[in-house]
Amino acid sequence: MPTIVQKYGGTSVEGAERIKNVARRIVAAHDAGNKVVVVVSAMGDSTDELLKMAHQISAAPPERELDMLLSTGERVSVALLAMAIHELGRTAISLSGNQAGIQTNTVHTRARITGVETGRLIEELESGKIVLVAGFQGVSPDEDVTTLGRGGSDTTAVALAAALGAGQCEIYTDVEGVYTADPGIVPDARRLASVSYGEMLEMAATGAEVLMLRSVEYAQKYGVPLHVRSSFSGDPGTCIREEDEEMEKAVVSAVTYTSDESKLTLLRVPDRPGVAATVFGALAEADVNVDTIIQNVSEQGTTDISFTVNQTDLPGAQKALQAIAGDLGVAFLIDNDMGKVSIVGAGMKSYPGVAAKMFGTLAAAGVNIEMISTSSIKISCVIKRGQVKKAVQALHEAFGLGNTV
Ligand code: ASP
Ligand code: MG
Repeated sequence: MPTIVQKYGGTSVEGAERIKNVARRIVAAHDAGNKVVVVVSAMGDSTDELLKMAHQISAAPPERELDMLLSTGERVSVALLAMAIHELGRTAISLSGNQAGIQTNTVHTRARITGVETGRLIEELESGKIVLVAGFQGVSPDEDVTTLGRGGSDTTAVALAAALGAGQCEIYTDVEGVYTADPGIVPDARRLASVSYGEMLEMAATGAEVLMLRSVEYAQKYGVPLHVRSSFSGDPGTCIREEDEEMEKAVVSAVTYTSDESKLTLLRVPDRPGVAATVFGALAEADVNVDTIIQNVSEQGTTDISFTVNQTDLPGAQKALQAIAGDLGVAFLIDNDMGKVSIVGAGMKSYPGVAAKMFGTLAAAGVNIEMISTSSIKISCVIKRGQVKKAVQALHEAFGLGNTV
């Protein structure tokens, strides 16, 4: 009997009617002769609401307690879903991450899965039950509850699919799949039939919110194909898998963006070995994720270095820089008003002129580029936040990504 792993996102289980709808889909997969494991997110905005409550009580809640709190959202969903499946006359069992054998490291609020102990899962499946696993959580070696970071249920599902040897992992969500751009900004954005792991990694890293970045890394590492599709329709969705001959190798597959970047510039940094290591070492120590970095040409023994961080990391970055600025004799500036627009496509590595076309398109739209970074299949430009929408629309149009009919 084949094993199927499905994941349902928060909007798909928001309220009793939607939970009943999901239960019917799960039962159909079970009745078709599969062993079914289902991972579920917290209902609707409940994770945000729990976080809000925590911050009404404490400005800096202890991370262990945050994990205890946030992990409850997913437990509510699985328990209710189990009840809905029982109402349909089938047997289901809900499990917390710990009960499902999801082992993680000890880094609270953004733990990484280190292994899956499948004994209990296999036992329950063998006895004919549908197994429902609370997403986004696991247990640390200290036997504490951990959570995997926002969007972490995707990673739970991929880890289970890998551990159970399921042929693929089905991610059910509130959109029809992965799009050429955010349809909220670009009305003629198109669903992509298939995307390579490499492209999806770049897309998730540059702002596509449909999948958690870590889940795509995990899927690539263990060779688990992902199938992203709507929980409200039977439409085909998007397959994410190893790049192969059949995949259309578009020069540009998608335009992505972020609107929550801050730019920091260090002025008159001494131009000698070890200074960049000191600066970025201090930022790493403070757990700040640094994105695009540029260093200017040096003049009279000093240079300027700019880099971007996510807005949520700005206070940490500021603190870390303040601590070292005096010793290095540097000042720094902050521009909290930045965004980033990126184009991603597996075909661009063998196709010249893509960068020129991107920059030309932004120029024609009156968008000033402040920083540029590239990989072999991605080009990102840091721009003013207020121009992000216009930039995304212009690039989507210029690279011919929309529905042409
Ligand atoms: N409920 C968690 C979140 O909102 C995890 C998830 O939905 O995947 O981030
Ligand atoms: Mg999600």
